[in-house]
Amino acid sequence: MPKYQLKCDCSLRNTNGTCPAHSRVKMGIMLEHGADTFKKTGTNGKLANPYWYNYMKNNNQGEENIIRGMVRRFEGDILMKFTNKLEFYDNETKVLIGGLSIKK
Ligand SMILES: [Zn+2]
Repeated sequence: MPKYQLKCDCSLRNTNGTCPAHSRVKMGIMLEHGADTFKKTGTNGKLANPYWYNYMKNNNQGEENIIRGMVRRFEGDILMKFTNKLEFYDNETKVLIGGLSIKK
């Protein structure tokens, strides 16, 4: 039995193969002040920074590899222009693994 499951069938799963419950790494996208159009409305009705999750098929790779892949994906996204910092969390424990400042 692998430590990390590589897919799931839960209701939270996204069609792109990421899952807020079962992806291994959670990436917080700390947007610049004023970049509200890219924020999500949270359950409390307030705007919140978006979060990305890694592809579950990569869950058994090391955290570093997963994060590298997520950063590569992020670099091709419009959000990059409006982001100050990325924060990476262990999605199971919610412990901060590391951060990356975006230089412009
Ligand atoms: Zn799931």
